[in-house]
Amino acid sequence: MSSKTLTITPDIARYLTQVGIRDHPVLSELRALMEDFPGGRMQISPEQGAFMQMLVKMNGTRKGIEIGTFTGYSALATALAMPEEGHLTCLDVSEEWTNIAREHWQKAGVSEKITLKIQPALDSLVEMQDQKETFDWVFIDADKENHLNYYERCLELLKPGGLVLVDNSLWGGSVVNPQDEEARAIDACNRFVQQDDRVDMVLLPVGDGLMMARKR
Ligand code: CA
Repeated sequence: MSSKTLTITPDIARYLTQVGIRDHPVLSELRALMEDFPGGRMQISPEQGAFMQMLVKMNGTRKGIEIGTFTGYSALATALAMPEEGHLTCLDVSEEWTNIAREHWQKAGVSEKITLKIQPALDSLVEMQDQKETFDWVFIDADKENHLNYYERCLELLKPGGLVLVDNSLWGGSVVNPQDEEARAIDACNRFVQQDDRVDMVLLPVGDGLMMARKR
């Protein structure tokens, strides 16, 4: 019994994966592949993926953007939860990482639902400005210094009622006393969203901190 959030030990994390989610074979395959992969810890946790899938379904998400796709886990989880006609535009700069993503999207049968754009995400977002207020989902998980810029651009693209999720919003807890560029940028983004009256917001201790903002 507690009014505070539980500290997640490795045993609890294992329990969450075993009992707390319904796994998909390609999601678990990708997680296993990432265990020894350089940068593999950049992947979201299994329960965060499942939580995002629940949000996708609850919000009737049909048209989404993901900024920072890495090897495709969160996009795969998102696309699996979307309806048949759902579509996700993924923005990333790495061919090498997203080749792994493509391979697993193909294997899970969701390739048709995903468009991948390989170029700096801000360029892609500028190109997408003719699609204002047509998206209902944004997941931001890229270069932390730009999170606030991505948030601003994406808010214009979101319909009222659409969700923006910003990953790593607690940055290992370093936002409490930010000592470097990334921590300062994430803290600034969090504080900006808190004061932004265009959205309702909550910052949750899911994974490395998940900022959720719903456009009013
Ligand atoms: Ca992340």
